[in-house]
Amino acid sequence: MHSDHVGWIGHKVNGELVATFPNARHLVRSAEWRRFDNPAENRASVADALNLLEHRIEFVEEGEYIAPEVRILATPGHTAGHASLLVTADEERVIILGDIFHSALQIEHLEWTNTFDRDPEQAKAMRRWMLHELAQPLTTGGATHIADSVFISLG
Ligand SMILES: [Zn+2]
Repeated sequence: MHSDHVGWIGHKVNGELVATFPNARHLVRSAEWRRFDNPAENRASVADALNLLEHRIEFVEEGEYIAPEVRILATPGHTAGHASLLVTADEERVIILGDIFHSALQIEHLEWTNTFDRDPEQAKAMRRWMLHELAQPLTTGGATHIADSVFISLG
């Protein structure tokens, strides 16, 4: 529920906010959605998304399959409700990392955090755990924020 991931989720037509992809399922971990229950949480950059998704959202949790070979991985740290996706096909795995890594430099320097990590210590621990996962055979990471090398394979 960060603006760089949901900022495009709606747009205005004749002054009315409409879903960009009206037939899409909109999935979020409940912890991610619930953080906006806190009045101190900054809603400014996601206000349209929150309004648009309020009656469309489907909650998903750790281990839940959202498609036959696609499972939710709870990966807290960047935010408490952060999620990644685990895609499996036979013996191969691809982990869509989301916001675990924001730069390729963090693969070498796990301790380097960014101002958007809500819990920097948990985010570092999550990067450490994820590097272990990415070092397993037949495992590839899809790093959505690392534009020049989107796929990471350490195994
Ligand atoms: Zn992001």
